[in-house]
Amino acid sequence: MERKVIESLYNHFKDTEKKLKIVCDWDEVIQSLEPFALYQSLEEKKNHSAKLKGLLNAAKVYNLCSQVPRGRVSTYKLISSPIYGSVRFARQVGNFLKNCSCSFSTEMTEIDDYQCPRGCYRVIRNSLHVGELIDDAGESRVEMKIGKLRKEEVEFDEKGYLVRKELIFRGFSDSGRTDWKFFFEVFWERSLVDYSPYGSRLLIDFPEQAERKNHPQFYQSAPFLSLARELLMLVKENKADVVFLSAFDKGVFSDGDPRKKKIFAETFGNFPNCSLKLIGFKWGENQKTKGEWVKENMPDCDILLDDNPNILADALTQNPNLIAVAPYYPIVKHNDKVILIKNNLSNLSIEDFKKSNFAISN
Ligand SMILES: [Zn+2]
Repeated sequence: MERKVIESLYNHFKDTEKKLKIVCDWDEVIQSLEPFALYQSLEEKKNHSAKLKGLLNAAKVYNLCSQVPRGRVSTYKLISSPIYGSVRFARQVGNFLKNCSCSFSTEMTEIDDYQCPRGCYRVIRNSLHVGELIDDAGESRVEMKIGKLRKEEVEFDEKGYLVRKELIFRGFSDSGRTDWKFFFEVFWERSLVDYSPYGSRLLIDFPEQAERKNHPQFYQSAPFLSLARELLMLVKENKADVVFLSAFDKGVFSDGDPRKKKIFAETFGNFPNCSLKLIGFKWGENQKTKGEWVKENMPDCDILLDDNPNILADALTQNPNLIAVAPYYPIVKHNDKVILIKNNLSNLSIEDFKKSNFAISN
């Protein structure tokens, strides 16, 4: 059964009677670090392994697919040619679209139950046959794809072929670069992060990524996520006290990453109701978990916000009254009690933390 994903942390908690005590992680919750460093390093270097190339190409496929307007359709071949420089990769495009994150479940009965922000159902076979739509039980539900397109006034004949060929869309714009928004999405649809009960690390061995991430100014360039904006709204309206509790690798830093202290001071550190605590861990060694830290230091904590499923599961065991919240990243499976909240890219900047009048809209 599909889990409900909450759109907004702010809307979900803003009317809580008491002032909330929140413990929040930083990396991949407030700022996108691993995916952004990977994106930048991949864009710079051009010869990649098949796995990394696949990541960039999937992001390109979803970008082009999302350009097909409502009421039009395109084909696997037409999408493959700007990306691969050849129509021979149409099957590859088909595979990426088949694995699009819009899950199509057996429970969906009405045409409007099924939604895809990328519009992957608007791509059809090269023969102009509508193709297939398989649900999560492996059953053919092509009538839903036809119904969805019919609602957009795209008709198919009784054999499943497109009636009006002039509805084929070819006007793709392609800068050659991978769009960061789609790369961020694709990153969270692949198993690229390894979570221990204490911290996390990237599963890809790509030295250029680590180099990027270790740059002294990296935190100043890494994008803030929508959860940062929503937390900032709760903080500015004095609806929450927030402790940013972030793990650091003791193998890399002896006393916590000084860059994190700096970015905190420049952003949430401007507010008296925010503080930063860094706890060290060494990969593969057992030490104090975040759940233990919360139990000892903040027994009245209301909400723990973290992307690491092991940390949240442990914290829920140790602190039964805690509300565990995680950003929704499709590949990361959480305990049933965890509330999942959408986390998108945001244009929030360091300057926004200084402004007294803070716009709520993005
Ligand atoms: Zn889709």
